Amino acid sequence: MSDEERDKPLFYHFWCIKGDKESIIVDTGIDPEHKDGIIDYESPVTLLEQIGVNAKKIEKVIITHLHQNHFSGIYLYQNADFYIQEEDFRSQAKRIAERRFMRERALLPPMLQEDLKDISCMQRVRYVAGEEKIINGVTCHLVGGHTPGMQVVSVETENGIAVICSDLAYLFRNITEETPVGSFWDLHQACEGLHKVKQIASDEKLLFPSHDPLVWDGRFPLVNQRIAKLA
Ligand SMILES: [Zn+2]
Repeated sequence: MSDEERDKPLFYHFWCIKGDKESIIVDTGIDPEHKDGIIDYESPVTLLEQIGVNAKKIEKVIITHLHQNHFSGIYLYQNADFYIQEEDFRSQAKRIAERRFMRERALLPPMLQEDLKDISCMQRVRYVAGEEKIINGVTCHLVGGHTPGMQVVSVETENGIAVICSDLAYLFRNITEETPVGSFWDLHQACEGLHKVKQIASDEKLLFPSHDPLVWDGRFPLVNQRIAKLA
């Protein structure tokens, strides 16, 4: 996203891949404790119920990267393993351990430290290294850029291979113009990532950004006001 658009409202999306045998969640959605400042908040558990998915029965949650609005809802999935790029997990943990001042500057919220410790203690983190198939038709791909271990998720759909780009692209515009988001760890990787997802997806229309209000402009069928069927 360019800085000039920072004053526009953001949408916080997360994704459910509904399969024949199981559903996989990509990013957790924001948990109720972190909803402050979000207008029209609805719990991820309630949203999933509305498409017939029980959060408690989910066994696999892919976390694209360790920014709080993408993983703060880990507690909502009591029986899930969390698939995170090892690079992202280690680099975030290392940064917290080594650079306490970052917390003080509010760049990393204190909760992140606790959350990382908790999921680690629960032995429910499954490290992903680079490219890895989670189940048939669902693959994680390391792209980096936005964070050291940022990953995107490709999904075989009826319409072809789609890619959940998460924060590789906040907006559709980041994809179409191949313009990286303003927040990045490695600019070169961020540019490469945008190129890479276009190679993976069957069609550019099957690339999905994380925060774009245009998801709700009628281009996708809506299940209800808060749930869109992307592919
Ligand atoms: Zn992010």
